[in-house]
Amino acid sequence: MVASRNFEELSAFELLSWALNTFGNEFAIASSFQKEDVILIDLASRVTPRFRVFTLDTGRLPEETYRVMEDVRERYGIQVESVFPDRDEVEQLVTLQGPNLFYGSVEARHMCCDARKTRPLARKLREVRAWAAGLRREQSSTRAQVSKHQEIDGLVKLCPLADWSSAQVEEYTRVHGVPVHPLYARGYASIGCAPCTRAIQPGEDERAGRWWWEQSRKECGIHFSEDGSVRRNVLSGKDA
Ligand code: SF4
Repeated sequence: MVASRNFEELSAFELLSWALNTFGNEFAIASSFQKEDVILIDLASRVTPRFRVFTLDTGRLPEETYRVMEDVRERYGIQVESVFPDRDEVEQLVTLQGPNLFYGSVEARHMCCDARKTRPLARKLREVRAWAAGLRREQSSTRAQVSKHQEIDGLVKLCPLADWSSAQVEEYTRVHGVPVHPLYARGYASIGCAPCTRAIQPGEDERAGRWWWEQSRKECGIHFSEDGSVRRNVLSGKDA
């Protein structure tokens, strides 16, 4: 019985197997093509050749992300469902605030992330009953309490790699030869939009290169609210 399962004790493969068998086409993997996301795709491909993957194409992604997206499409023989922001919303935002509004303030940056990421995600998630993301507890203090299984807004969210270390990620990537985003080779440890991500220095936190000019929690709002709590009202794209 699902209710009696202790999801925390399941391995990443077991958790993905359970989701794919339970939800079928109403389960999807969210991917920005970082190492963790591609591991989820690789694991899912060992359960079934048919599974859904989507990506939020913010319109500001680095060219290298499209390259690894192509590699993943080819390697696994899958389609990647691209989710774009609402055209009118982005046109209005950029016209009023400029194309690089995110450098102005944390509030302006969240306006951009909300328009380009959070609300498109909310729209996409209305198609499914369960989704998976590549968050790991080790990545930051904000992520330290991430659960492998949560139900939010009646939607099941899985983080199958929650308890993986960065060494495990490296080992899986190497052993299984999964496609790797080219920016890792240039010192990036976490990869998002081009203007908001840069390489890190040795010893810096994995997410130090995200919105590096901010003293913030380094989150876009998809997974956590500004106060660091788990994001509620996921399906509306609005904070509680
Ligand atoms: S990461 Fe930067 S460019 Fe991308 S949506 Fe957020 S603020 Fe906008």
